This record gives sequence, structure tokens and C-alpha cells, in this order.
Amino acid sequence: MGYSELRKTIGRNVFLLPVSKTKSYDAILGVYAQGARAFGENRVQEIERKFPAPGQRPDGMQVFLIGQLQKNKVRKAVRLVDRIESVDSLELLQLIDAECRRIGRRMDVLLEFNSSNEENKSGFRTEEELKEAASAACGMDNVSLLGIMTVGPLGMDETKNRAAFERTRRLFDAVSSSICPLSVLSMGMSSDYVQAIDAGSTEVRIGTAIFGGRI
Ligand SMILES: *Cc1c(COP(=O)(O)O)cnc(C)c1O
Repeated sequence: MGYSELRKTIGRNVFLLPVSKTKSYDAILGVYAQGARAFGENRVQEIERKFPAPGQRPDGMQVFLIGQLQKNKVRKAVRLVDRIESVDSLELLQLIDAECRRIGRRMDVLLEFNSSNEENKSGFRTEEELKEAASAACGMDNVSLLGIMTVGPLGMDETKNRAAFERTRRLFDAVSSSICPLSVLSMGMSSDYVQAIDAGSTEVRIGTAIFGGRI
């Protein structure tokens, strides 16, 4: 569909994050030229290889990490990205906070929720664990907790998608009202962004529908 058209479809109230994993830096610059500033990537090594160093990126360009972050890559990640949307354990959160303190920066983070209870998916498995991490995050000096991210269930079952997104929205509301105010609810990809927006998503992460399929 392309970035510009998709933006019109989605409207102003939802942030459109183009997901550029596996795509070339030239393709990224093409979407940047259409007005996109932040790009979603899922691997630290790919970010390091593909993008210019942070101080040398085009004006306003940001990189958001949306894929699982291994503990031994935290050091690199906090130097390369502007936001981490895939924090999936309290331990990882503490490592990010500590590493950011060391280099004197603050990192915007989202906690990832495994809303579909799928075994091989990352994210906090229970609402209690996520809430515990949210409480910790709110008290940390070197992370800013922006919100919650989830990946919808595998497959194209609309009912299941809606249920998972609504569950995540309720969790978002609960954390916002009882722990600390959140602003970003990141849910919805190329195949399920319509249901995600219906359920209250404030940010959709779109790869295929902007850049074409991945081989
Ligand atoms: C790849 C990816 C997306 C985008 O998926 P598409 O189906 O290509 O739109 C969104 N979120 C995460 C976490 C991803 O890894």
C-alpha cells in the first residue's frame, strides 16, 4: 500500500511505525522521504550494520527496537536505539536502566505483553508480572516507561485477535490508572491493525504493507 496511503487510512490519532527489518537502508530512506521518522527493527546487529551511527543519521531519524533483546546485547542496544518496545523481563529492565546510567542517558521503553499466551512468543506471561515490572520502571531514573506492546495471535482469526488486543488494552488502562500514566499502546501489524485500532491501539507497527514481503 505504501507509507503515505497507509497513513491516510489509519488517520492522525494512531502513530504509524514502519518496520524495516530485512529491508535495505535505501528502502528506509525512501519511506523517510515520505515523512516517516521512526523505524522499527528487531535485531541489534542488523541496526548496527544497516544504519549510520546515531550522531550521523538523517535529521530526526529514530530507530525503535521491537524484537527480543538478549541480555548480552543491552550494552550495544542502548547506544544504538531511541526506544526499546520489547522489554520482556524485570531483569532486562534493570540491565537497561543500569547501562543507561553508566552512559548518562535515559531510554524510552515499552513492556511487551504475551497477550495470546502462545508458548514460543516473548513478552510477560501474566498481568501480575507485567504490573510488577511497570511499578519498578516508574521508579527508575534512567528509563521512561511509555507503555505496552503486544504481538497479536498467530493466524488470521479475527475474534482471537480482538480478544488479545482488548485484553492488552484493559491491562494498559489498569496500569495507567493504578501504577503510572502510560501514553503508548503499540499493537497491530499488517494483517491485524484494523482490529488493533478498534481495540484502542495508539501505534501500529507495519512492515509488509509498507515495504512488501520479506523473503
Ligand atoms: C515484523 C514485525 C512487525 C511487522 O510485521 P508485518 O506483518 O510485516 O507488518 C511488527 N511487530 C513486530 C514485533 C515484528 O517483529
